[in-house]
Amino acid sequence: MYEREVLQLQKMIDESCRIVFFGGAGVSTESNIPDFRSADGLYHQSYKYSPEQVVSHSFFMHHTEAFYEFYKDKMMILDAKPNPAHLKLAELEQSGKLTAVVTQNIDGLHQAAGSRNVYELHGSIMRNYCMDCGEFYDAEYVKYSDGIARCKKCGGIIKPDVVLYEEGLDNATIQGAVQAIGEADMLIIGGTSLVVYPAAGFVDYFQGKYLVLINKSETSRRVRASLTISAPIGKVLGQIKVE
Ligand SMILES: [Zn+2]
Repeated sequence: MYEREVLQLQKMIDESCRIVFFGGAGVSTESNIPDFRSADGLYHQSYKYSPEQVVSHSFFMHHTEAFYEFYKDKMMILDAKPNPAHLKLAELEQSGKLTAVVTQNIDGLHQAAGSRNVYELHGSIMRNYCMDCGEFYDAEYVKYSDGIARCKKCGGIIKPDVVLYEEGLDNATIQGAVQAIGEADMLIIGGTSLVVYPAAGFVDYFQGKYLVLINKSETSRRVRASLTISAPIGKVLGQIKVE
């Protein structure tokens, strides 16, 4: 499917050597990770608050137990596996053609696929730190702790290294992402409708040759793209051949 578009994409990738991939929730949904913002009926039956309310800094501070109930249940999908998009991007990096992945996802699947240079704009469920002593905890420890995740050493509350609503993005991560995009000769944007700011503004730093949009639904922001493919990102990237 989409043979003509995939051939065009292949040609652009073959011609490029500093590709950056910018990915959104659609990259993860193909690994069966639900977008927590798209609350379904089931969600409304079991929680009193909206996802945006729950995943905020103030909610974490004041309703820590309710936060963890939602977070562990809806956002920590630890059995998810990388899909063909993650795997192809890792392969492109290993071949020296792709310099960075910039992602809005927090599931760690790019690293699980083998990618090394990943800028996680919204943090990662894989990293968790005690708010009192700074001790590191992995995702399993948090997921399987009873109620509020607490530090084994000092009893302090553990906070996921995930950017919550009301919190700013990490400066070093932003700078790394902006630099990679600014130096790229090709930018592939996938699985996002580019509506989540400030991340969507990152695209403006791109000065390279090919800008490609791959998304199941149309992107809501007007971007001058060299190529637009309205298809699932895994299906498209899965067909790309890496030399
Ligand atoms: Zn501690």
